[in-house]
Amino acid sequence: MAYQHQYDDGTPVNLPMGKVVCVGRNYAEHARELNNPVPTEPLLFIKPATSVVPLSEDISLSSAQGPIHYETEIALLIGNKLSGDVTAEQAEASIVGIGLALDLTLRELQDQLKAKAHPWERAKAFDGACPMSSFVNPERLSLTNVALRLTINGEVRQQGSSAEMITPMVALLRHIARVFTLLPGDVVITGTPAGVGVLHAGDKLELSIPGVLDQATQVRS
Ligand code: ZN
Repeated sequence: MAYQHQYDDGTPVNLPMGKVVCVGRNYAEHARELNNPVPTEPLLFIKPATSVVPLSEDISLSSAQGPIHYETEIALLIGNKLSGDVTAEQAEASIVGIGLALDLTLRELQDQLKAKAHPWERAKAFDGACPMSSFVNPERLSLTNVALRLTINGEVRQQGSSAEMITPMVALLRHIARVFTLLPGDVVITGTPAGVGVLHAGDKLELSIPGVLDQATQVRS
């Protein structure tokens, strides 16, 4: 059976597996750590449905062309079509699940592509490039203050909150809807806080929205 998004109680999400719309540099501190300018409008890119795998499965580095970096991000599962000019209420009502994703990135390849002014897909959209957690009911969280944390081998590597986003989540959905139609089953991943780095074989990762969602995964050794 093809992979479907899941709710945190283990039930499958009855929506198609859509695209993943991603935003780069949505936390100023992360933009600075990679020596990137802080953008004046959201920097958008897309990962295809074929990049999505369950976060609970081991991460494989075996076919990677160079080191893979982790980026931990809050993921918004979209339940209603959003297209063109939408209100903040419509954008907020379209969110039917909140989870966590890893935006896996072949960073050296991405740097080479950026230097040539080529698209990033080879570094960001490969099969398995978007491990995705299960989704919790958005009513359990306040969108303006969703915390996220990543530990690797017991050490905190990334932590942040949606309160620190340059473009907050509802504004981000409204912006995206003017650029790409969002359909039920699409996911928006909302950028990563500082602390990104390389994954190594055998690493044990714990991603959490503290008190709400915990998901462990590991890198195949
Ligand atoms: Zn990212």
